Amino acid sequence: MSAEQKLSERSVAEMLLDWEPVIGLEVHVQLATSSKAFSPSGTAFGEPPNSLTDPTVLGLPGALPAFNRHALELALRLGVATSSQIRAKSRFARKHYFYPDLPKGYQISQYDEPLCEHGHLDLIVGAELKRVRLQRIHLEEDAGKNLHAGTVSHVDLNRAGVPLVEVVSEPELTSAEEAAEFMRALHRLVRWLDISEADMEKGQLRCDANVSIRMRGEDRLGTRTELKNINSFRFVQHAVEHEIARQLRIIDAGGRIERETRLWDETLGQSAPLRSKEEANDYRYFPDPDLPPVMVDGGMMGGILKTLPELPAVRFARYQKELGLSPDDARLLVSERGLADYFDACVAAHPSQRGARNLANWMLTELLGALNAEGKSITESPMPAPTLSALVVLVENGTISGKIGKEIFEESFRTGEPPLAIVERRGVQQISDEAVLAPVVDKVIAANAKQAKDYQSGKDGLFGFFVGQVMKETQGRANPVVANDLLRKKLGR
Ligand code: ADP
Ligand code: MG
Repeated sequence: MSAEQKLSERSVAEMLLDWEPVIGLEVHVQLATSSKAFSPSGTAFGEPPNSLTDPTVLGLPGALPAFNRHALELALRLGVATSSQIRAKSRFARKHYFYPDLPKGYQISQYDEPLCEHGHLDLIVGAELKRVRLQRIHLEEDAGKNLHAGTVSHVDLNRAGVPLVEVVSEPELTSAEEAAEFMRALHRLVRWLDISEADMEKGQLRCDANVSIRMRGEDRLGTRTELKNINSFRFVQHAVEHEIARQLRIIDAGGRIERETRLWDETLGQSAPLRSKEEANDYRYFPDPDLPPVMVDGGMMGGILKTLPELPAVRFARYQKELGLSPDDARLLVSERGLADYFDACVAAHPSQRGARNLANWMLTELLGALNAEGKSITESPMPAPTLSALVVLVENGTISGKIGKEIFEESFRTGEPPLAIVERRGVQQISDEAVLAPVVDKVIAANAKQAKDYQSGKDGLFGFFVGQVMKETQGRANPVVANDLLRKKLGR
C-alpha cells in the first residue's frame, strides 16, 4: 500500500467517526423449480444456448404465460420463514425496458402488490443475532444473458423466464461486513428450506447493494448509489467497502453524491458508473393482463407451516443457551442443515444433554475430518449419529481413553463395526481399577529404583517418566487419573 493510500485510508477511518454508512440490499434468488416461471421449458444450467426456450420465453405473439405453482410454494416458504405478511391476493406487473436479453420488452415482476412484506432476516454477528427488516419479497422472472465476444454479441435465453424471488432489505445495514453477512444469512436460509441451491457461481443468488452515507445522528437518508449484480460474499464486502470510501472522499472534497448505478470490478478493485438511475415511472409498470392474481389460501399456508423446519438462527441461539456450545461451534453447525440435523440426532441418542459439547467436538473434528478426507458430505456419512454418540459415551464414562477413542472412531468409520464391539474385541478398555493398577505401579517403581530415588530427592520432572512407564506396561490402557494417584502415593511425594 502506498503512503498516499495509507493516508487516505486513515482519513476514511476518521471520517467514519462522523459519518454513518447505510446499506440496503436487493437479493435475487433462483427458485429450484424444474420448469420456468410461466412456461414448460426446463431450467437446467449449462445446456446448449437457447435450447430451453418456448413461445412464451421468446415472447412470440399469442403466447400466454401460466404461473408455476411450485415457484409459489417455494416463495411462500421463504415468506413464512422470514415472518413476512403474506398477501392473500398478490399481482404480477409488467416492468418495461428495452434490452436484447428480454424479447418481450418487459419483465414479469410484482410491483405494488408483492407476495410478501415486512418480514425480517436474522444475521449471525459474533455470538449474537442481528435482526434486519425486509421491505418485501416478490416474485419475478429472470432475463436472458448477453455474451460479448470481440465485436460480436450473442444472446442466450436459457435463463429467461427462470423463477426468482427478489428479497429487499430495509436500509439498515451499517457496514460492508454486515452486508456480506446478510447475503450469507439468506444463502443459508434458502438452502436450509430447499428453496434454492443458491449456487452463486451459477448466478442463483446475486445482489444489488444500495449504499449511502449520512452524518451520525441524522434521520434522513443520504443519496444512494446502487452496485449491480454482485455474486459473491467477498465481492459484496469489497464493493461496499470501496463505495463507502469513495463517497466519503467525495463529501470530504466538498462534492455531492450522484444517484447512479455502478458496476463493481473485482479484478480492478473499483467500480465504474453504468447509468444514471432510472425512476420507477421509466418502467411504465402496469398489472399484467395475461396473468390472474396470485391467490394464497389457508390450506396452502397450513401446509407450509406444518413442514417448516426449525430455522438456523433459532438453532444457533438454542445451541448456545440450552446446550452450552461456543458461538463458533454453534455457527459451524448451523452453516448447513445436514450438519445441524446430524448433531441434533447425536444429542438425541446421548443419555444426557451435558454430552452436547463433547458431541460437537467429536463431530466437528473427527467426523468432519474423516468425511473431508473422503470428499463426502455429512449426509453421506457412513457413521450414523447414534454410533458417534455411543463412542463419545464410551470415552465419557471412562471405558476407553480419548486417545484410544480416536482409534476406535477410525475403525468404526471405516468398517461400520459398532464401537463397543471393537473395544471388546481389541481388549482396549481403560483400566481404572486400583487393585489391577497397583501391582503395575509397584513393578515399575521396583524396576526403576534409581529414578525413584532421584524423584524423591527433588527431580520433579521424573514424574512424567513414571506415568509413561505405567502406560507402556498397560499398552496405554491405564486410566491416567488413577495411575497418577497411585504413583504419587507410592513414590511418596
Ligand atoms: P429501487 O432500487 O427499485 O428504486 P427501492 O427504492 O425500493 O427500490 O430501494 C431498494 C433498496 O435500496 C432497498 O434495499 C432499500 O433498503 C435501499 N435503499 C433505499 N434508499 C437507500 C439509501 N438512501 N441508502 C441506502 N440504501 C437505500
Ligand atoms: Mg434497485
